[in-house]
Amino acid sequence: MPELPEVETIVRDLSKPLCHKIFAEVIVHDAFVLRQKAGDFIRRLKGQAIVHIYRQGKAVIVSLASGEFLVVQVMMTGQLVMDGKENRHTRVAFILTGGRRLLYNDQRRFGQLRVVKRLDEVGYLNVLGPEPFADEFSADYMRENFLKSSRPIKNMLLDHTFVAGIGNIYACEMLFKSGIDPRRPACRITKEKIGILHQIISEVLQEAILHRGSSLRNYRDGMGRKGSFTQRLAVYGREGCPCLRCGDPVRRIIQAGRSTFYCGHCQK
Ligand SMILES: [Zn+2]
Repeated sequence: MPELPEVETIVRDLSKPLCHKIFAEVIVHDAFVLRQKAGDFIRRLKGQAIVHIYRQGKAVIVSLASGEFLVVQVMMTGQLVMDGKENRHTRVAFILTGGRRLLYNDQRRFGQLRVVKRLDEVGYLNVLGPEPFADEFSADYMRENFLKSSRPIKNMLLDHTFVAGIGNIYACEMLFKSGIDPRRPACRITKEKIGILHQIISEVLQEAILHRGSSLRNYRDGMGRKGSFTQRLAVYGREGCPCLRCGDPVRRIIQAGRSTFYCGHCQK
């Protein structure tokens, strides 16, 4: 599933080709991915100029001259690709003035697209916690929330009401780099370790954005290319392989229904 760095990469790729263009035509091939009637979706987009495109958590937000927003949640297998060829997974095609086209492809159709007046109409955005790069997401904010929770630290990092957009892959990487056992209750992490983790959260996400994200399944950036961070993952997907620090085999466990990869020797 695309996480913050992947969605940020998509948004950066799409910003230049989309900004100040107009949706000349909107073609819905499969209304299943829409959260409103196709007619209403098309009517509110057609002829609208695109003002700005940005990310909140894992949602792509396109602000329109009308003051409304096109919100795209790519979920598992959604892709937003400029000038690609339509295929059988193309659910919506947006034709821009000048002839360029933006395709929304989605193999499994878990993604959601909608046009809204206000962003809080989208349930996910309404409950979203602070962005990991925001000032609000400070070491003090983390500590306050950790003290109130005996949940495993890994589950806490995946909770989008606590922090926006950190997904499974990066949570594993962050805990490995911080030397924290993913099973450790949040309330039992020292102030010092929280400071380190806070720093590493930014570093891991920034490095992943620099490498255009990770392509584990079918993630593609806004140009239809794979991300290259996959080769740099230290623990994720490396069950049984030697830990890059100590050589012990990397372990895999299930937490809250998701795979966690960690080193039992390096992470305490
Ligand atoms: Zn190790």
